Amino acid sequence: MKQLAILGCTGSIGRQTLQVIDSIPNTIKPVAMAAGNNKLLFLEQVKKYKPQLVSLHHEEDARWLQQQLDGHQKVDIYYGSEGLLAVATFPDADTVLTAISGAVGMQPTVAAIKAGKTIALANKETLVAAGELVMLLAREYGVHIMPVDSEHSAIWQCLHGENSHNVARLLLTASGGPFRNWSNEQMTAITPEMALNHPNWQMGAKITIDSATLMNKGLEVIEARWLFNINYDSIDVVIHPQSIIHSMVEFNDGSVLAQMGVPDMRLPIQYALFYPQRMAGKVTRLQWPIGELTFTEPDFERFPSLNLAFQAGRVGKTMPAVLNAANEMAVHAFLTGRLEFKAIPKLVAKVMEGHSPFQYNTLEEIMETDRWARRRAEELIR
Ligand code: MG
Repeated sequence: MKQLAILGCTGSIGRQTLQVIDSIPNTIKPVAMAAGNNKLLFLEQVKKYKPQLVSLHHEEDARWLQQQLDGHQKVDIYYGSEGLLAVATFPDADTVLTAISGAVGMQPTVAAIKAGKTIALANKETLVAAGELVMLLAREYGVHIMPVDSEHSAIWQCLHGENSHNVARLLLTASGGPFRNWSNEQMTAITPEMALNHPNWQMGAKITIDSATLMNKGLEVIEARWLFNINYDSIDVVIHPQSIIHSMVEFNDGSVLAQMGVPDMRLPIQYALFYPQRMAGKVTRLQWPIGELTFTEPDFERFPSLNLAFQAGRVGKTMPAVLNAANEMAVHAFLTGRLEFKAIPKLVAKVMEGHSPFQYNTLEEIMETDRWARRRAEELIR
């Protein structure tokens, strides 16, 4: 049995990961689990999977969990960032699934790498903000990073058995989100409720807003740059509203390989957790014929976030960390009614303008940059 530590158990990826584990019994055991604020669901999960160590975000929730489990179940209970680190480095775990959202995932991911854990990476913000350092550490500690993001899983599958020297470019597909066909004018009236209604994918709030602005695809471009060690000129984004092709690789001979499947995150989760094996599982199959598959160019004018991500990626150094932190702040401000939809990329651009990027060597430098960008974003929001 594979021993798994999960960061972000009660979130969308965490819940779907537990469904995958249930669907293929006696293969994976969650031994350490961390959740944020959803203590009721977490209590159910802890009772069901009986991990040895768990963590919640708040101290009072951890105490509540202790009372609920007292006398019934022996488990070490932690909280806060110390708890995340304890789960990420839990000695019995061989793989760590990073399904937590945002730059808060950086520290535990780096700790897990240093502890020699295989990483099933669902926290793209870590690679966006600190990709250079994370990939360097992964090589140094001989750790495999297995993408859970559906686009990167697709590319990973297309690259199987191929020589990386023969890759001409990566084609990341994007659904285009709910506002794909909206005019600039219409987009001024977008509310959080509208933006949270994604046409194809069931996901958490942060990534759903990122999908609506196309920042998600921008973050994925940077993620791909680091995961597959490829330069930005060789990464293109294609709008593919059906979300059937999850991404493609073009080779030097002109051949293009694509990975297809239903838009269901359980498929890439399962592939990462069981790699290099393929398991039958319980994910729905494509129904043939699948109908029309269409492809268009993204509109960089209506979706400036995508351009900002390419810019930040090309500048490199600390700039992607600033892009990411400013975007997290902007999305939060939009969701809480403090910022308009169209102001999200404006805020990110403004924070980036005020930053002098520098070559970083430590995670602490990236975290300090992240904190600076958040302070600057908050000033601008006010
Ligand atoms: Mg994705």
